[in-house]
Amino acid sequence: MALRVYNTLTREMEEFVPLHGKKVNMYVCGPTVYDHCHLGHARSYISFDVIRRYLSYRGYDVRYISNVTDVDDKIINRAKETGEDPFYLSARFTRSFIEDMTSLGVKKPDVQPTVTGHITEIVDAIKLLILRELAYPTPEGNVYYDLTMSKKKIGILSHQTEEGLMEGSGARIDVEKDKKYPLDFVLWKSSAESEPGWDSPWGRGRPGWHIECSAMSMKYGSEQLDIHGGGADLIFPHHEAEIHQSEGCTGKHPFSKYWLHNGFLTIDKEKMSKSVGNFFTIKQVLEEFPPEVIRFFILNTHYRNTIDFSRTHLEEAGRAYERIANTIINVRYAIENTPGGDTDSGLSDEISKARDQFTISMDEDFNTREALANLFIFSRKVNAIISGSSPGRPALEAVLGFFSEIDEVLGVFGKDISGAPEGKTGGFSDEQIDAMILKREEARMAKDWKRADTIRDELKEKGIVIEDGKEGVRWRRA
Ligand code: AMP
Ligand code: ZN
Repeated sequence: MALRVYNTLTREMEEFVPLHGKKVNMYVCGPTVYDHCHLGHARSYISFDVIRRYLSYRGYDVRYISNVTDVDDKIINRAKETGEDPFYLSARFTRSFIEDMTSLGVKKPDVQPTVTGHITEIVDAIKLLILRELAYPTPEGNVYYDLTMSKKKIGILSHQTEEGLMEGSGARIDVEKDKKYPLDFVLWKSSAESEPGWDSPWGRGRPGWHIECSAMSMKYGSEQLDIHGGGADLIFPHHEAEIHQSEGCTGKHPFSKYWLHNGFLTIDKEKMSKSVGNFFTIKQVLEEFPPEVIRFFILNTHYRNTIDFSRTHLEEAGRAYERIANTIINVRYAIENTPGGDTDSGLSDEISKARDQFTISMDEDFNTREALANLFIFSRKVNAIISGSSPGRPALEAVLGFFSEIDEVLGVFGKDISGAPEGKTGGFSDEQIDAMILKREEARMAKDWKRADTIRDELKEKGIVIEDGKEGVRWRRA
């Protein structure tokens, strides 16, 4: 079976064939850090996190690059409001963003470049575009991309006509007067004395937004990407601008073979957005809902479809999540209370069917919604088998192993699989530690060294050290 993805560039489902064998260069646009991130951002980064994880699960060697926009007009304006230094403000919100991603189980990118760390690369890219007569500086100290030179590519990703883009996207087009053509976009912007700026051949200034992604992906993702991702609002002008710039610099087409865009997270049918003010920050939502429920809520919709956010929908997601989580807890309980023995009771068959189903769903443009629906069916079957017959421990452990395997992709059930107590990820209560040590003693008495070691390792992982002494076992937190 082949993995198929929906490509915004061709507007078709296509078989996924990377440019260089199993190597996948994947770039996802990061946030502009002028405030705490909201749940709409979480939607984007969780979606691409799962796409990245699934590609690894499928045996691809993924290099995941995602930037942080740490200099931008929004940052400068917000710093003016708060009276902070803009660099201090963006550093503060970069930390907040990374904290949120860690809380939500989003894997760290392989490379997470910042704009301020790549001014040289950005200036070099702009110089090259000017040299190739694809960009022009103006007496005001700005530099623009000259779209009249590559007009045939206008609308290449948004599939709109030049006229449509001029009319429909007025709000997103820079209105500067020194442009030659209304759709030309800024590459370098002159900075006032009070604003952050860097010396350049065109005077003191700062990068326009789009150029950073071209410069960084060329530096870290080779000249052509396999996948470029972001929210659907970035298709125009941001991603189209990236195509013009990158192909203008390298002369290679396509800049990215596949373009993937996540749908919006909305409130009352309107996109959740900082500028509209209809947002809940990730931190606010985490105060009320555990991270795994938030992930489950987001993954329970296909990444390209809209998710309507409400407390009720999150609560429903919480209940749905618990149905699968309870099965995992049932399995763990059954393992603890079941002697060894090779009774399979049909579990191996169910696991192999569930694994096939998981791959079939995810191979169809990463359909996490269908994958979760199939997991419900699998869970029900597992519960029925456990209560109807008595599968032996190896069969039960295989079920847990299967959940671990797919959780490498979904990142939702880790706590239930490892048995960390609710609300105490990463920590066991004293009572639980005592109970686990007792179980380890029982295992040792039964000469089940493997199980005894597993328990000791589980405790060690949580920073609990066991000392076997003359007076019995003592433990302490390391
Ligand atoms: P920004 O910081 O606004 O550039 O957003 C960073 C990423 O989050 C972009 O890929 C956006 O498309 C995405 N994003 C922002 N708001 C939402 C939303 N409400 N739903 C889905 N994705 C969003
Ligand atoms: Zn970008």
